[in-house]
Amino acid sequence: MGQYKRLKVPANGAKIGWKDGKLSVPDNPIIPFFAGDGTGPDIWNATRLVLEGAVEKAYEGKKKLVWMEVYAGLTALKNYDKDTVLPQETLDAFKEFRVGIKGPLTTPAGQFKFVCLVCAAELNDRPAKCPKCSSEWITPRFRSVNVGLRQKLDLYACVRPVRWFTGVPCPVKAPEKFNIVIFRENTEDIYAGIEFQQGTPECREVYEFLTKKMGKKIPFPDSGIGIKPISKTGTQRLVRMAIKYAIAHKRPSVTIVHKGNIQKFTEGAFRDWGYEVAKAEFRDQIVTEAELWDDLGGKMPAGKILIKDRIADQTFQQLLLRPDEYSVLATPNLNGDYLSDAAVAQVGGLGIGPGANIGDGVAVFEATHGTAPKYTNKDQVNPGSLILSGVMMLEHMGWQEAADLVVKGLEATIQAKTVTYDFERQMPGAKKIKCSEFGAEIVKNMGAGKPVAA
Ligand code: NAD
Repeated sequence: MGQYKRLKVPANGAKIGWKDGKLSVPDNPIIPFFAGDGTGPDIWNATRLVLEGAVEKAYEGKKKLVWMEVYAGLTALKNYDKDTVLPQETLDAFKEFRVGIKGPLTTPAGQFKFVCLVCAAELNDRPAKCPKCSSEWITPRFRSVNVGLRQKLDLYACVRPVRWFTGVPCPVKAPEKFNIVIFRENTEDIYAGIEFQQGTPECREVYEFLTKKMGKKIPFPDSGIGIKPISKTGTQRLVRMAIKYAIAHKRPSVTIVHKGNIQKFTEGAFRDWGYEVAKAEFRDQIVTEAELWDDLGGKMPAGKILIKDRIADQTFQQLLLRPDEYSVLATPNLNGDYLSDAAVAQVGGLGIGPGANIGDGVAVFEATHGTAPKYTNKDQVNPGSLILSGVMMLEHMGWQEAADLVVKGLEATIQAKTVTYDFERQMPGAKKIKCSEFGAEIVKNMGAGKPVAA
């Protein structure tokens, strides 16, 4: 095992291995985790209780999750030097132990110079204490730690399964029709961070190059400029992962989502390369939409996966109007970002949407919402997102029995109408409970036999 300065590798655990494209999971896997900033510790404590409860119940002590704390965001400032938010050791541990889980982190936006990692206040100077919350944990503005984690560990797919759980309040009429897994490319597109600030010499140089040398027209010279790289390699590994998932989980279709009608050489190429990898590597298992109508008279052969594509804006409409015609989506980074949050809003909001960032042999599971800073240390927010990310993690490890128990406990708890404030205010007759109590209820309701009546 690797040598770490500030991290303690638990002596009672073993490393998850990776061979021939598959994980090999011991009965006592070491799982690196960090709770995150803001409400992260609250949702992590509830999640840990639930995951440990499910594993204990499912395997009666034969299997056990062995946690290894790593640091990022505020805990990194506290444990390393005061300006380090993503220590190399954290990256090394996620890489070495292959499966990890994380809470949300403060991510500064805008053009201010410093940020308070406790309340996310944005500041232009660095006072000894935050003027909003009096914390001393103020650090220079940095690029997103989440994006850094994804890029440095090459976690190229952001995977978000979006489905409705009976009883969850939501804005659409038939949420049960929604059961879609979104694979969003995670490393390229405008998220590559190639941007030039308006007014700088670099931006002027790029402007001159584009307008004078490449003959492109940019409407106004006082433009900031961003570059959007989308590669064949990045696209094909993402679409390949989505198709493999569809095959393994017997999903009927994979839809390539893109804005190729406008951005032909990036988004349009994403579509073309997606079809190319589908036909080259999965020929016997897939049918394209063109083949379905041109060659097969619209009759889908049993057991095959339909590969289709849709323009991004149309996809937003389709997910609202005909969600049951979609099963797995593969999207570039930015469109996938918007689409994932819109999709989860349809089935009850970010408080209950799970997510994972997955690469070849390394995966980090995460709550999809942010740090909800105004609820920090109040034990109030909904831990559902991180708990369901834990379910994805158990499934990824092949611990399906424990994963099923968590879902069963969560469904029973929601149906019993014992929920956190975000659901309670939308569910007539519901009882509002704390974040920690919600976790405890789930554990209690695991294996409770029949679901509790709504
Ligand atoms: P947010 O997700 O923290 O909050 C948006 C809204 O949802 C707020 O009203 C919040 O109170 C509510 N909310 C969030 N999580 C909830 C939960 N579990 N239960 C109930 N309600 C919940 O987004 P924001 O306010 O835009 O961002 C706050 C901070 O989090 C920022 O620094 C942002 O950059 C960061 N952020 C981090 C991640 C991540 O780590 N993956 C994702 C998004 C935002």
